[in-house]
Amino acid sequence: MTLRKRMAALLEKGDLSLKDLSRELGVREKELLDHLEHVARSAKGKNSLEITPAMCLKCGFVFRKRERLASPSRCPKCRSERIAPPRFRLREE
Ligand SMILES: [Zn+2]
Repeated sequence: MTLRKRMAALLEKGDLSLKDLSRELGVREKELLDHLEHVARSAKGKNSLEITPAMCLKCGFVFRKRERLASPSRCPKCRSERIAPPRFRLREE
């Protein structure tokens, strides 16, 4: 199975962050990001990539408008670096 297929299979089962995917697949997060963007684009039509936005653990700020899939490094509101990363799931339509 290709990496993208393995990734898609994991994402169909659950809600995962890049860190979770990295651990499961043995691939660095930075590298996974490209694959995830591809999965997100090619998913259109038969299923969709749902994104649970990243959230600041200190003040609760939610990164709703963030289109990029990478984890933000710092909260724009309180400047904390304690950020819960975005989580991804593939859902059939
Ligand atoms: Zn904050």
